[in-house]
Amino acid sequence: MSVSGLPPYDDTNVFARILRGEIPCRKVFEDEWALAFHDINPQAPVHVLVIPKGRYCSFADFSATASEAEIAGFIRAVGRVARQLGLEAPGYRLLANAGPDSHQEVPHLHVHLFAGRRLGPMLAPAPDQPSR
Ligand code: 5GP
Repeated sequence: MSVSGLPPYDDTNVFARILRGEIPCRKVFEDEWALAFHDINPQAPVHVLVIPKGRYCSFADFSATASEAEIAGFIRAVGRVARQLGLEAPGYRLLANAGPDSHQEVPHLHVHLFAGRRLGPMLAPAPDQPSR
């Protein structure tokens, strides 16, 4: 479901196609609420994407319109993925881009899970781009 001022959900986005089984993925975890799979272009030794099964563009509409069960199911799934991968002790980073300033490329909510090395400062240095 879309929220005011944001574009509607695009059923042709790549993660919608992965959820429908039209595009393969290297699955890590799946339950009623979420699917987790390895990122095709990993930025760390472990780089997994966790996506809700519902049609949500980003954290914006998910947080505004998803049911309590969907939200709880998705958040628990993220935790389960980290646990399943043995990452609770060494640690991991979660990141969710939302909208143009964040450089979100795929318009289906996804949480990046990075791990497997010291991840360094929270944000990479900003590239040379005009300030807003
Ligand atoms: P965003 O920039 O939207 O936060 O992240 C999108 C992520 O999706 C990127 O890290 C990109 O590598 C990943 N990605 C894009 N297309 C595919 C795909 O077809 N399969 C998988 N596994 N990951 C993809």
